[in-house]
Amino acid sequence: MGLIRSIFMTELLMGMKLVFKQMFKPYCTLQYPHVRHDIPDGYRGLMSLLRYEDGSERCVGCSLCEAACPSNCIKVVSDEVPGQPLVRYAREYYLDITRCVFCGFCTEACPVDALAMTKVYEASVFDRRDLMFDKRKLYELGEQHLADGKAYLIAHNMDDGTLFPKEGLGDNRYSFPPVDLGEGERPVTVGLTREALEMELSKQ
Ligand code: SF4
Ligand code: SF4
Repeated sequence: MGLIRSIFMTELLMGMKLVFKQMFKPYCTLQYPHVRHDIPDGYRGLMSLLRYEDGSERCVGCSLCEAACPSNCIKVVSDEVPGQPLVRYAREYYLDITRCVFCGFCTEACPVDALAMTKVYEASVFDRRDLMFDKRKLYELGEQHLADGKAYLIAHNMDDGTLFPKEGLGDNRYSFPPVDLGEGERPVTVGLTREALEMELSKQ
């Protein structure tokens, strides 16, 4: 049998048959980098910092992103806005992308939606020190990929409609349904004295 196969080159013919069959089928590969996939809005690419529409920085230097980061790759140096002792900002902001696991926890922790992830996934460099992003680089990324950042916040349900009001976005943000306490019941409010709280509880 093996001899007959060798004489008639059946394996070769079977291979050629497969090649000709596939030759006329549509391509299933992309000619990267000339052709690229459409990246979904929720994609977690390089991080960016966003500004308000008047150009001012959103970040208030609260360090919640730093606390939420499981990789300890964020460092925020907070400071007072000169002349406004109650207003703070991030004087310095560092993000080590080489340690980032792209979990997005920092974006969720941010109370002012200053952080958003872009669709940028090509970050190779010759010097890994270039992947330690500082504040200037992060705001630059935010400006260059603002549409990505907005799409990211909407896709992850983080825009409440007040961040980008001109575009009428935020309809898909989750909000807790109103609580029906029923007749006669009253909520126990924060700030009651111990005696008042005990009285409230004794009524229930
Ligand atoms: S995406 Fe995750 S790992 Fe990366 S900086 Fe944010 S919290 Fe840290
Ligand atoms: S990016 Fe957001 S969470 Fe992080 S320091 Fe700035 S305001 Fe706070």
